[in-house]
Amino acid sequence: MSSAQRTHFCLNNPKYTIMVRELTSEQAIALEDKYGAHNYHPLPVVLSRGEGVHVWDLEGKKYYDFLSAYSAVNQGHCHPKIVGALTEQAKTLTLTSRAFYNDALGEYEKYMSEFFGFDKILPMNTGAEAVETAIKLCRKWAYEVKGTPENEAKIIVCEDNFHGRTTTIISFSNDPDAQKNFGPYTGGFIKIPHNDIDALKEALQDPNVAGFLVEPIQGEAGVFVPDEGYLTAAKEACTAANALFIADEVQTGIARTGKILAVDHENVKPDMVIMGKALSGGVYPVSAVMADNRIMDVIKPGQHGSTFGGNPIAAKVAMAALDVVKEEKLAENSQKLGELFRERMNKFIESTDMVTLVRGKGLLNAIIINDTPDSSTAWDICVALKENGLLAKPTHGNIIRFAPPLVMTEEQLHDCCDIIERTIRTFEK
Ligand SMILES: *Cc1c(COP(=O)(O)O)cnc(C)c1O
Repeated sequence: MSSAQRTHFCLNNPKYTIMVRELTSEQAIALEDKYGAHNYHPLPVVLSRGEGVHVWDLEGKKYYDFLSAYSAVNQGHCHPKIVGALTEQAKTLTLTSRAFYNDALGEYEKYMSEFFGFDKILPMNTGAEAVETAIKLCRKWAYEVKGTPENEAKIIVCEDNFHGRTTTIISFSNDPDAQKNFGPYTGGFIKIPHNDIDALKEALQDPNVAGFLVEPIQGEAGVFVPDEGYLTAAKEACTAANALFIADEVQTGIARTGKILAVDHENVKPDMVIMGKALSGGVYPVSAVMADNRIMDVIKPGQHGSTFGGNPIAAKVAMAALDVVKEEKLAENSQKLGELFRERMNKFIESTDMVTLVRGKGLLNAIIINDTPDSSTAWDICVALKENGLLAKPTHGNIIRFAPPLVMTEEQLHDCCDIIERTIRTFEK
């Protein structure tokens, strides 16, 4: 029986779950290959279970997860408190739409306001939707508060940014894969180099600039940490030019970099902050934009929305996910383990010619493999890491990102560093 026939048979079988478990990894990959669009190039591993810092494949092999679903699973896989909130609410009320009030949203909004120190939240589902929401808010604020002439508002963004995959967002990407043949593109964006305060100040001279959208650390680009003081100076420059400083914390937020938000390292308060991914601990799509009333109040009924945005499951899940961050001191753990990780890697770099650099903040780190960006070495290392029980993925050629769940222990981190070093050593010439 072919794998496709076999699965069809399984779906009609009352012992469905048991039967599906009998699928081999090879069969599961073949199904995705045949029936799914090829918009990803996954590492050849098929996961079927997760708990804490670990995931298991279909054959029962156990791995350390060093990607955390691009930093969505900061609280660890299947955290019982978050899953508990999900299942409890799922049995009670799942979706009302915003045509009616629900008894969870207001409580969640107050929780978010107090947790992050902004007047209001606008709840959405995915990161890209939240970025779109921030762009719309910024433009509307420019026309209605700042007094920018209609259709003239511009938003400054950084080169090598990653803010998601909608048509507008990819319009200001400079990744050819993300952008090519998806035009015509949305206008109104100015691109400047990341971590270049002079370029920002110059771009802000344009009186029609409404805001500056920036990742405090560029994650997808390869974990580029800007110079200390950059975020502070950027915020000041924006304020002086009456433009909004908008921090995309979808990847860097929720304790990933050793603080609740990455901007907290410099005590900068953005005019708007965008969150997603770990806002739900990876159990449900939950995203949000937060801002004070002077900005948020430009949105009136009917002007923006989402059927699922602010649904009761999302509200309960996000509160549980943030409770976990606080109760388990994940920011502190991320800070401590991050320092340990970079210390180990820096020591390793002294004794190998395979790695040239480690950089990052908290548990958002990357190492640079000593080979050209178009070589397959980083990919091959990730495949070998998988064989040795650790899952990571190259980002942009010769860079490997390391971002484990923040619930990791010191002992586990050392174990992981041993695996990484032992694996990379086998690539030494
Ligand atoms: C992942 C990511 C997004 C997009 O989030 P999705 O949920 O995939 O739409 C936006 N901004 C940053 C910085 C991200 O890392």
